[in-house]
Amino acid sequence: MTPEEIEAAVHAGMPQTVEDLERLVAIPSVAFPGHPEAPVLEAAALTEQLLRSAGLPHVRQIPIEGGFPAVYGEAPAPPGAPTVLLYAHYDVQPAGDPGLWKTPPFEPTRTDGVLYGRGAADDKSGVITHVAALRAFQGRFPVGVKVIIEGQEEYAGEQLEHFIESDPELVRADAMVIADVGNPYIGDPTLTTSLRGMAAFTVEVRTLAEAVHSGSFGGVAPDALAALMRMLTAMHDEAGDVCVPGLARGTFSGQGCSEEELRATAGVLDGVSLVGTGTVADRLWASYAITVTGLDVPSVQGAINAVQAVARARVTIRVPPSGDAKTALDDVTGFLRKIAPWGVQVSFGDFATGTGFRAGAGGPAREAVDRAMARAFGQAPREVGQGGSIPLVASLARLFPEAEILLYGAEDDHASIHAPNERVVLDELRRIITAEALFLSEYAQG
Ligand SMILES: [Zn+2]
Repeated sequence: MTPEEIEAAVHAGMPQTVEDLERLVAIPSVAFPGHPEAPVLEAAALTEQLLRSAGLPHVRQIPIEGGFPAVYGEAPAPPGAPTVLLYAHYDVQPAGDPGLWKTPPFEPTRTDGVLYGRGAADDKSGVITHVAALRAFQGRFPVGVKVIIEGQEEYAGEQLEHFIESDPELVRADAMVIADVGNPYIGDPTLTTSLRGMAAFTVEVRTLAEAVHSGSFGGVAPDALAALMRMLTAMHDEAGDVCVPGLARGTFSGQGCSEEELRATAGVLDGVSLVGTGTVADRLWASYAITVTGLDVPSVQGAINAVQAVARARVTIRVPPSGDAKTALDDVTGFLRKIAPWGVQVSFGDFATGTGFRAGAGGPAREAVDRAMARAFGQAPREVGQGGSIPLVASLARLFPEAEILLYGAEDDHASIHAPNERVVLDELRRIITAEALFLSEYAQG
């Protein structure tokens, strides 16, 4: 097919594409404990049906131990052509407080070229991107195609990694597309080439056999909460940069947003400054970040006059792709142990680690997607990073070091993923679908 024919096919398919996306968004496929399982399975069934409708000859659900099924489809490669793996997920975040939504979260609502609803962007837009891009070829795919649509990405989503590690041949491909990210702005094409990894732990400080009266003992008895606070605040310097020895700062080669743009997207209040030094991209994508994400301390309501005997904190470390999550965990816990005041008892537990990702220097798939995006968006993509982690990407990169991994999608920075009023811009979705279809054709030609 010529590029013009591909563009025309995607364009002509858009009404059906949007209708199918709405059908998916209408299903509350929340794969979290406490949410009904039936809608998740219903979304799996619809995903299976949509992949069949895309002309893939082999489509099936794959049971995933300890999780919801993945939906898998494949079509063999024409002689001499490479194979592309396409990934997305059909489960969604819970809607949260429905009162914060302007439209009901699971009633897809279309206004002015925008579709609102939970999962409209993350990541049912990814599912539909693959379906619609494949449909453009009407079953005559220029490359070998493997599609895997995960069913439990948003909650404890390690099951697919375990499955892939037990059967890597299923997903082996020359290029792998992860359609679960997006452009900073509508119409501004990017490839995400860097992902931070993460490490997390719980720290507990103990000082007394039990809490004691702050009038009788305050000023002398060591307060576990005070000790913990001193330890936690010591991880950053005055400017807000991480100052734990061993956690070196890096620089990001692509281009990030300005401080003003970040203030706006993060909703930073007037008069409150950003933290850290260096460019926003360096801080977000190439350096460590440490966040205290939870504290076990007495709550304000019902607080009594006591010196605390025990205090706990949950600490999350974002690890740049240049670093190693396990090493970062050792560096931070070692630092906290070393600086703990007054000989308090310190212990650590509930460890978690995930590896980051940095795309390779480029290759035929990267060149093909550059050309495809340049045509679909009118300009070549630039590189961005993402501060969050996608553990699956690290697994794929480790299992298939020769594969080129490409991350793009229709989840722009204002898509409100994981938040109320999630939305996808339908023109952006069309450009991403067009780019993917053009990529498959360009890549086949080498
Ligand atoms: Zn997602």
